Amino acid sequence: MQYENDALIVGAGPAGLTLAIDLARRGVSFRLIDAAASPFIGSRGKGLQPRTLEIFDDLGVIDAIMAAGGPYPRLRLHFGPFSFRGGSLGTNKRPSESTPYPNLLMVPQARTEAILRDRLKELGHEAQFGCALHSFTQASDGVVSELSTGETVRTKFLVGADGGHSTVRKILDVKLAGNALGDRSMLVADVEVAGLDRRDWHIWPFAKGGAVALCPLPHSDLFQFTAPAAIAESDIEAVVRKVSGRKVVRVPWRSTYRPSVRMVEHYRVGRVVLAGDAAHVHPPAGGQGLNTSVQDAYNLGWKLAHVLRGGGDSLLDTYEAERLPVAASVLGLTKELHLSQSVRRGDRTNQLSLNYRSSPLSSGEAYAGLHPGDRMPDARLADGSRLFDRLRGPQGADIVTPKGLWILVRPDGYIAHIGHDRSGPYANLKIPASQVELDL
Ligand SMILES: Cc1cc2nc3c(=O)[nH]c(=O)nc-3n(C[C@H](O)[C@H](O)[C@H](O)COP(=O)(O)OP(=O)(O)OC[C@H]3O[C@@H](n4cnc5c(N)ncnc54)[C@H](O)[C@@H]3O)c2cc1C
Repeated sequence: MQYENDALIVGAGPAGLTLAIDLARRGVSFRLIDAAASPFIGSRGKGLQPRTLEIFDDLGVIDAIMAAGGPYPRLRLHFGPFSFRGGSLGTNKRPSESTPYPNLLMVPQARTEAILRDRLKELGHEAQFGCALHSFTQASDGVVSELSTGETVRTKFLVGADGGHSTVRKILDVKLAGNALGDRSMLVADVEVAGLDRRDWHIWPFAKGGAVALCPLPHSDLFQFTAPAAIAESDIEAVVRKVSGRKVVRVPWRSTYRPSVRMVEHYRVGRVVLAGDAAHVHPPAGGQGLNTSVQDAYNLGWKLAHVLRGGGDSLLDTYEAERLPVAASVLGLTKELHLSQSVRRGDRTNQLSLNYRSSPLSSGEAYAGLHPGDRMPDARLADGSRLFDRLRGPQGADIVTPKGLWILVRPDGYIAHIGHDRSGPYANLKIPASQVELDL
């Protein structure tokens, strides 16, 4: 087959953009398309978890993300003329040697995507909007895709990062098994409300028709409005007026969704791979959907690049082996948070302890609190520099400790192997790595 590009990435949401950045810095040729006429403008997935912030540090966007974000505000519960200030869904921890980004950060999804697009542009690539995937067929050596532009595109791989209604998943005939939670759809919108206090996340638990909430979005005059979808989109202004006594100035974005827990049984069929919401759909509770999507892409990028450079194709199977159990456990967590309406978050949702311990790539022994398959924490090195600074970029790290132990860190920051020699299935891949001496 004659290939136009190595990969076609379908969908320029958080998953597609993350993958595109990672492939761009690895020198992989790809095309990134999105069916929408223009970039997404809403706040939707607004919670960035600590582990995602570490990934954004590695991808070179952390300064822009931190500047665009803010801490989660405290909840203010309104009951008629009375109101009570509660806690926040976020934490307020100090950064430590091992965890430079310990807190949940609020960044409207459209802002996160804009920052990722800027980074992609710096790397010499752009998403092509107004270009949908219509169909594809795959052969043993590639995928032939038909686009809405009338083009036929031949690539070695196709990645479906095309969201919950994924065309790629449907064409593959991979089922998105699961169910909706409850029988109610939700309405979500971005609204500007004249004169409403922006310090708190306002909630009216007993509003007529169901709980109404207005969450102030950082560095903006907008609030994210959520309510049961029994309230018509055209009624947003009346509802806000009724609960808060304030006037709505504008509603730049609105949407409805049905909280669901669904996931696929396969992430890969031949030369086609699924990532993000195309593979798993979460209720918003706990802020996991966007984060899990970014991490799918980050797990996939270095593996796809390795295979495209001629490495064994079986490495791609570890993508499903590692990410499918993570999606299942995150879905269990978000379902529990949704049904219990719990506001307890922190360590359960920050995604720092998600691991690949049972992965076929993890080998060796535990050492000084480190375990093969776990995220490698940041650390201060003997020369005063930081490990994460040395890890930033597409390479992994071969760390040697004073006891002569090797800690092999994958390009996505997970420990592949701990042992007295550089052995194991990951070492056999011979992935480029920085040599680092650690004073542990
Ligand atoms: C109210 C609400 C609150 C949320 N809060 C959070 C939160 O706090 N934290 C969190 O982590 N997540 C949250 N989420 C979830 C989050 O928004 C999603 O998980 C995230 O957008 C998934 O990213 P993605 O890139 O996989 O898919 P998407 O963002 O859906 O992107 C898919 C892209 O593919 C494009 N596309 C679709 N079909 C085609 C085609 N045939 N051809 C080409 N392009 C196509 C679409 O136009 C779209 O741009 C929330 C969701 C909702 C609804």
